[in-house]
Amino acid sequence: MADMTGQVALVTGGGRGIGAAISRRLAERGVRVAIGYSNSPDGAQKIADDYPGCSIHQGDIGKKEDCQRVVDEVLEQHGQLDVLVNNAGITADKMMHKMETDEWDSVIQVNLSGTFYLTRLAFLHMSERETGRIVNISSVIGEQGNMGQANYSAAKSGLFGLTMSVAQEAARKGVTVNCVAPGYIETDMTANVPDKVRDKIVSGIPMRRLGQPDEVARVVEFLADPDSIYITGQVYSVNGGMAM
Ligand code: NAP
Repeated sequence: MADMTGQVALVTGGGRGIGAAISRRLAERGVRVAIGYSNSPDGAQKIADDYPGCSIHQGDIGKKEDCQRVVDEVLEQHGQLDVLVNNAGITADKMMHKMETDEWDSVIQVNLSGTFYLTRLAFLHMSERETGRIVNISSVIGEQGNMGQANYSAAKSGLFGLTMSVAQEAARKGVTVNCVAPGYIETDMTANVPDKVRDKIVSGIPMRRLGQPDEVARVVEFLADPDSIYITGQVYSVNGGMAM
């Protein structure tokens, strides 16, 4: 693993769940992590308190003006951006025939368009410096689909296409773009799944358990490493064998 001391990473949704594990792993490597949040600053603030040099940034990534402001803040405060982790995401589950247009739009806006807005801004900066790492957090649902998640699945599948296309455009600029596709991970996102549904999910996972946020974060850390320069346009699945 290369030295990452002094590098700067922006982790969206970096204050809780998978994002918090990513923020902490990168901060442990000496990276100054700019931790993004939308509504709940507490988790982000706690990490920033634990790791001097880190900062917190409020913004709704579904709004391109917020993305611009957050990236401006990060560059003003830290002077550079080496790593972008597009982690923030939402769900609004419903069977497709009952899904309202705004439930479709909001999930596409945050999970897919938000990643596009931030990737475009980060790439402009990274390509000038001819170095950078972009990691997009997709999902096993983007690989397999799922009943009641047409919006989420479409957004997460869309990240595969976005990743591969931008990876091809960015390769000559020293910027890599990859995806991590977690299976079911124990976070707030999965906390309210009814026991019966949870048991059914677990029975479909060869490892017979949900994953932990840090089991995803370690793969993100690997892809963010300067030595991972020859890996781009790839999807790394972290799902206990759920999809092979
Ligand atoms: P989580 O615990 O629900 O946390 C979501 C994070 O995203 C929070 O930090 C939240 O910020 C942030 N966020 C939500 N909407 C936002 C917006 N509009 N603008 C900026 N930030 C926003 O989720 P998680 O389970 O850690 O999931 C993280 C990522 O992994 C997501 O992309 C998710 O789709 C993906 N994933 C999760 C699982 C799983 O089983 N948990 C599986 C596969 C993929 P606030 O705290 O401020 O609200």
